Order: sequence, then C-alpha cells, then structure tokens
Amino acid sequence: MSPTSYLCSIPQYFVGAKVDIFFIFAKKNFMAHKAGYVNILGNPNVGKSTLMNALVGEKLSIITSKAQTTRHRILGIVNGEEFQIVYSDTPGLLNPTYKLQERMMSFANTAIQDADIILYVCEVGNRDVMEDYIEKIQNSDIPLIVIINKIDVSNTNIVEADVEFWKKQFPKAEILPVSALHKANLDILIQRLTELLPESPPYFPKDELTDKSMRFFVSEIIREKIFLFYQKEIPYSVQVVIDSYKEENALIRISAFIFVERETQKAIIIGHQGNGLKKVGTTARQDIEDFTGKKVFLETFVKVRKNWRANTKDLNAFGYE
Ligand code: GDP
Ligand code: MG
Repeated sequence: MSPTSYLCSIPQYFVGAKVDIFFIFAKKNFMAHKAGYVNILGNPNVGKSTLMNALVGEKLSIITSKAQTTRHRILGIVNGEEFQIVYSDTPGLLNPTYKLQERMMSFANTAIQDADIILYVCEVGNRDVMEDYIEKIQNSDIPLIVIINKIDVSNTNIVEADVEFWKKQFPKAEILPVSALHKANLDILIQRLTELLPESPPYFPKDELTDKSMRFFVSEIIREKIFLFYQKEIPYSVQVVIDSYKEENALIRISAFIFVERETQKAIIIGHQGNGLKKVGTTARQDIEDFTGKKVFLETFVKVRKNWRANTKDLNAFGYE
C-alpha cells in the first residue's frame, strides 16, 4: 500500500476530531497568537525523531535503526505569523537499568508534564505498552494524539486493528496513522495541531529553530556515526564532547572528544590502522558541512572515562541534568 493511497481513508480514523474548535477560535479572536509545546513520546525506535524532523523540516534529531539513539530532549520550533509550535523530541520510554537511562527518562517525564499537546507515537503492528507511562499520559488531561507510524510498511487491515487497539488504550485520544518517513498525513496532523494550540504569546524569539547549540548538534552528528558503524554495547558506551569550535571566515575548526567506558572500547572505535575513527570523522565532517553550510576541519580523539554512564558527576558534566 502506498502512503498516498491511504490518505483518502484517513479522516474516519481521526477519531474524536472536533472540527468546530477551529470555528470557535475563528469567531473569538481571529488575530490571537497561538503557541504551545507539542511533546513527542513513545517507545524506542517507533520513529519519534523522524517525525519531529519531518514536522520541523530540518534534521535536528539523529536517527538510526538502533533503540535509544536519542538521549536528550530536543526542541524544534516552527514559527508562523500567528503561531509557534515548539516540538519536543524525547528519548524512548523504557525501564531504566543504569543512571544515564534514569536521566533519559526524567527528560521524558518532564515532557509529559509540560506538554500542551502530547503526540504518543507507536509503530504499526507493535502493541508493546509501557503501562506506567500510558497511565500517566491518560491521567494528564492534556490533548493527546496517538500517531500510528510506519503505515508505509503495513496494510489496511493491520492499521485498522491497531486503531481499535489504541482507542481502547487511550479512550480520550484522537488517532492518526502516518508515515513520518514518507511524510504521509503530516499535513492533516499539522492542521489539527494548529487547531489545538492554546492562545499564548510565543515562547521563543520568532527566528529561533531550536534550544540547542551548534556544538550540541555537531556532537550528535558524530554520535550518530558511531551508532551507525559500531555494534553491541559500543554506541551505548559513547559520549561525544566538543572540546573546541572555532569559526574562521569560511571554515569551522572543530575538535571533539569521543569518551568510552573502557580501553577495549577505545581500541574498537579507533579500529585497524585507525580506519574506524577515520570513517567516523569523514562521514561526520560531511554531515556537519551540510548542516552548517561551511567547510569543516574536524579532529577526533578517543578517551576513556571509566563507567561514565553510572557516574553522577560525569552525567552532569555531559549535560544530562
Ligand atoms: P525513535 O527512536 O523513536 O526516535 O525512532 P527514529 O526516528 O530514530 O527511527 C527509528 C527507525 O525507524 C529508523 O530506521 C527510521 O528510518 C525508521 N522509521 C521512522 N519512521 C518511519 C516510517 O514512517 N516508515 C518506515 N518504514 N520507517 C520509519
Ligand atoms: Mg529518537
């Protein structure tokens, strides 16, 4: 099934949509500014970051096929003359087994509390539920849209069965099947979000795209390459820190530390004759050049910081506060 062929049958699944809300707003104050946080939550790997990037129109969040790629809460801001949508991508919901994951889940918990609208993303055909979080979201009284993602790799019967399933899990929610990857039904989603946004002045200056710095995005691009090229525990043991970032006319000079937890991991990252690290550096540099629009000189150094994922001081220093 192509994503577009699905489009015409969507409105019937957009359960509970109150179209009259739009007209009420229109009558009340046509010029009132609307703004709010649209927080994206869901299990690992369901496509939360892909969805946020598609909605913002920029690759702010890194995306890989591995779970737990996103570790921070990342804001992506979309501005219009009369509205500001602050999207918030979050780490996938899980039961933490080490301190870094505890910090990751505290970002997700905050996102449940400060949302104006929650997008709960799930993957078509996958009904794994995290009971605790479902309960928290259900009890929050915040407008909720359940996004059934990846419909491009499914069929109508499965999608329909999923809609029924999620309706039971979240009786108050609206439900919308989409393909974030192919941008199918995102126009319907955006339309609905602008209707649901509360009246509010903007939260950020109107020319701002995100709350994160260029250093953060550079470190994330390098971390994405490590997620892509290394297996098993390696990606999860890595933290990237930008040691220096200097803009010189048309060139940006960047020096980055790649922290691992053990000497053996350092050797694996560097690889035979340094080829592993070279590949990370070259591919990351290309992406950073695309992201910044400038020529980039990137140096990377691998360092060992024993058990940093369990160390409160290290986690704070690495920005997981
Ligand atoms: P997150 O962990 O929830 O943030 O998920 P990501 O956005 O990192 O995506 C996880 C994987 O799912 C990546 O390989 C994406 O390319 C893939 N993915 C995301 N959205 C879609 C979609 O709509 N269709 C398909 N087929 N794959 C998708
Ligand atoms: Mg993610």
